[in-house]
Amino acid sequence: MATDRKERIARNEASFRDLNESLEANVHRGQRQADFAGFVCECGDGDCDTTLRVALDAYAAVREDDRQFIVVPGHQLPDTEDVVDHGDGYLIVRKHDEVAEIVGDNSGQP
Ligand SMILES: [Zn+2]
Repeated sequence: MATDRKERIARNEASFRDLNESLEANVHRGQRQADFAGFVCECGDGDCDTTLRVALDAYAAVREDDRQFIVVPGHQLPDTEDVVDHGDGYLIVRKHDEVAEIVGDNSGQP
């Protein structure tokens, strides 16, 4: 079972992901030529408002897996996620099995 802390972290990350998905949608509507966009750090800290500049194709690749999130280097939490890849100024982390069902809920319901 996931602990309360890990569950809270997972929920924070999932809500940042929702925000970023809407940011990405706006980019696609606005400037079609844009290769990069600003995203918010998707770490488990609900107070973190650090922004990242990520290539749109790299971001899209992260989003193909519900358990993957994009965070600022140093914001990863090794007890609840593993770093699986990294890019220029960001890390890609993947949640452990115990919180997968929390972050995997993409139904759009709170
Ligand atoms: Zn962060």
